[in-house]
Amino acid sequence: MQIIIFGSPGVGKGTQAKILNNRLAIPHISTGDLLRDAYRNKTPLGLKAHELIERGELVPDNIMIDLMREMLREKAYQNGFILDGFPRTVSQAEALEKLFKELNFNHTVVLMMQAEEDEIVKRLTNRRTCSSCNNIFTHDKVKGLDTCPNCGAKGTLYQRNDDKEEVIRKRIKIYEESTLPVLNYMRAKEKIYFINALNPVDEVTEEIIKILQGVKEDITV
Ligand SMILES: [Zn+2]
Repeated sequence: MQIIIFGSPGVGKGTQAKILNNRLAIPHISTGDLLRDAYRNKTPLGLKAHELIERGELVPDNIMIDLMREMLREKAYQNGFILDGFPRTVSQAEALEKLFKELNFNHTVVLMMQAEEDEIVKRLTNRRTCSSCNNIFTHDKVKGLDTCPNCGAKGTLYQRNDDKEEVIRKRIKIYEESTLPVLNYMRAKEKIYFINALNPVDEVTEEIIKILQGVKEDITV
């Protein structure tokens, strides 16, 4: 089963991918991992991609797809995987579709985790970080505190720049603008399952598992 998860920053995609990875024993692939693994294994493609990243350039779609092919051919992925952060563009989606055909992967499930923008903003702006131990807290928990509850450092709790409202709204906007065409492209080929990401984490997991079982009955949890 090939699970593709979409969802803007802050909807808890990574959390769900990790839980599904544990419960269903299928690997989670993020594009960051893909690039790091290929570089660590010193494959020619991995080295090429690394060189581009070092120069501050984007890794082109054809290299990303070739890396994906290199990885997905491995035995570990034959029973399924969870793909997170890919495809990001329509041309990646087209190439991925071809690749799945080539590898005989024909149980694709597309999940879209949705939440109101204001709710995501509320969640993410509520985070505070300790500059000494790097622990993350919810603002409600550390409001008015002078010292870090984890390491005891004084005056180290702050709001990271990426947790500020205008930065978050910008990231969400960029995500939506770039993902919408991809979703529209995929909608024509696959059913897309929309999930309310604002429900509690375990309810979201149960909903996803029900969807997966509806697609492929022999899933054991
Ligand atoms: Zn601390």
